[in-house]
Amino acid sequence: MSKFWSPKLRGLTPYIPGEQPRERLIKLNTNENPYPPAPGVETALREFPVDHLRRYPDPESRALRETLAREFKVEVEQVFVGNGSDEVLALAFQAFFYHDRPLEMPAITYSFYPVYCRLYDVERRTLPLDTEWRVDLEAFSPQAGGAIFANPNAPTGHGHGREAIAGLLERVTESVVLVDEAYVDFGGESAVPLIDHYPNLLVTGTFSKSRSLAGLRLGYAVGSRELIEGLERVKDSFNSYPIDSLASAIGIAALKDHEHFDACREAVITTRERTRTRLEGLGFRVLPSQSNFLLVSHPEQDAAQLFVGLRERGILVRHFNTEALSGWLRISIGTEDEMDSLIEVLEGLTP
Ligand SMILES: *Cc1c(COP(=O)(O)O)cnc(C)c1O
Repeated sequence: MSKFWSPKLRGLTPYIPGEQPRERLIKLNTNENPYPPAPGVETALREFPVDHLRRYPDPESRALRETLAREFKVEVEQVFVGNGSDEVLALAFQAFFYHDRPLEMPAITYSFYPVYCRLYDVERRTLPLDTEWRVDLEAFSPQAGGAIFANPNAPTGHGHGREAIAGLLERVTESVVLVDEAYVDFGGESAVPLIDHYPNLLVTGTFSKSRSLAGLRLGYAVGSRELIEGLERVKDSFNSYPIDSLASAIGIAALKDHEHFDACREAVITTRERTRTRLEGLGFRVLPSQSNFLLVSHPEQDAAQLFVGLRERGILVRHFNTEALSGWLRISIGTEDEMDSLIEVLEGLTP
């Protein structure tokens, strides 16, 4: 605390990202992709004309948005891009959720949402998950000031299909429904094809996970023209140039390589299911997952102790210190070799 801090700043509880360790660890704690970005990314980097850095980038990021629009088969006016999807989410909070009705979200979901509620003075109402730890779509109220959840959800891993999301949108029509699809490419079903039917649907996504570009910071939103225009108004009141010219060139190169994209996500899915079977063999309970991580608990082993034991043996996973999640570990899917090491260490820790 400092006397120079505003009262608002004193009241904030920032989001705590997973650790980026300095020592060499097998890093299974922040859902990064274990495979390199598309080969075209390296070419784009090498061939990028340095002189372009003299100029400001295109404030509308037109070229990147056009490439995304083709990818999603939507109009360029239905696409927004930001400096990571966390920034897109922050702008969406300001554009759509800052009013007198509470924003509804599942009790367990991406822990950045409550942080933004504090920062942007958005009242929050949490909804319990169903008995299988899935997001309970029935629980969202048509009278709320908005709805937000990750689909597949984090850190639970379950995703609802498009029809279920459409069912929610049939009921909730008067406020924005934000579906965060950070993990959709690992086996989920995207709600993007619904945007023409539901003007209050905003779908966000990121290059950080399935495109192996967490270090680049690129995220996007897809929705009706009126929602995208709303996001642009907030963006242009905050930072006209969130996407630098290099990030734009790299993002476009990544989007163009469908083969690499499919190979990487299929490898992650295969390794995930293989890891599930092996963890179950060690007595773990493993929640079903359509994402690039598994949420696991052991009936006899304390999750916090397992976390420490793994870390001492060079493997970093994620343990959340909240009441609901303290008995669980979230394990990102790495390469086959990394998961072999994980299983080997766990065999020693769970006699
Ligand atoms: C990782 C993640 C994000 C953030 O992605 P960035 O584009 O790297 O900011 C957003 N939502 C969820 C649910 C995530 O897990």
